[in-house]
Amino acid sequence: MGSCSSCNSGNSPEGGGCSMAGGQPPKAPSASLEDEKLKKNLQRIAHKILVLSGKGGVGKSTVAVNLAIALSLEGKRVGLLDVDFHGPSIPTLLHLEGRRPEVTDHGTMLPIAIEGGMKVMSLGFLLNRPEDAVIWRGPLKIGAIKQLLGDVEWGDLDYLVIDFPPGTGDEPLTVANLIPEADGAVVVTTPQDVSTIDVSKSVTFCRQLNIPVLGVVENMSGLVCPHCSQVIDLFKQGGGEEMAKRMNVPFLGRIPLDPQIVESSDAGEPFIFHHKNTEAAEAFRRIVAPLLALP
Ligand code: ADP
Repeated sequence: MGSCSSCNSGNSPEGGGCSMAGGQPPKAPSASLEDEKLKKNLQRIAHKILVLSGKGGVGKSTVAVNLAIALSLEGKRVGLLDVDFHGPSIPTLLHLEGRRPEVTDHGTMLPIAIEGGMKVMSLGFLLNRPEDAVIWRGPLKIGAIKQLLGDVEWGDLDYLVIDFPPGTGDEPLTVANLIPEADGAVVVTTPQDVSTIDVSKSVTFCRQLNIPVLGVVENMSGLVCPHCSQVIDLFKQGGGEEMAKRMNVPFLGRIPLDPQIVESSDAGEPFIFHHKNTEAAEAFRRIVAPLLALP
């Protein structure tokens, strides 16, 4: 990412104004102008939903993509923003690798619209190669997130779903500061203790930042048998639900392990769109119902 490495070498205004659009040198808009642009953009988005997890590999990005698509299938105008600086996987999950957002005459970026109209923006679109490791310091990340929210032409949206890297680092902290009016967080875990212990830290993090917890999703809960389609209790079930109870936050539901999720993710075909009549797709729809009912 040429322009961002130039920011890294100290050319960035205010230490964090990384101008990512089209490799242009940073324009250094005043902080108040930037804030005004950001505010205007966010005002046009009715609901902002954060998808968090304290642990990697629990299926957070898969859940984020499928929730976003499920909302879009309900006729909602949806944006999906991937702010995972170290492993942006949304381009792969939606088969958008190598795509570049168009840069407008005003230096803003157009999100990539996929079939059905959902708008997608990912740091992955701005990396030169998908395997590029991005080593960014906190202030740069903050500047980049500000641009992904304020310099992207999201337009009028019913929902913006934001996928974060695992943990409770700069990224969710920045978004919590930039979007204090966010509806809240969907927290993803797997049923095992190794995951629920880490993920409960995400709940604590939300509490400390006054981000409402919309609920916990227990992913990889049981296995859908490829032969009979029954759900088998493979490892353990109920750990996420117990954690939600213990932490006194809503439980949104369980999504079983389904080999077709891996296949469709690897093929870049959103599972819920291509496998509508499965137990896992039904589980995603149940989880989306309270999000659709947000005031
Ligand atoms: P994270 O964002 O938490 O790191 P990912 O969404 O990238 O996790 O998912 C990690 C892997 O697990 C991917 O290969 C994905 O296809 C797979 N996966 C996620 N959820 C399920 C599920 N319910 N059933 C089967 N595989 C899943």
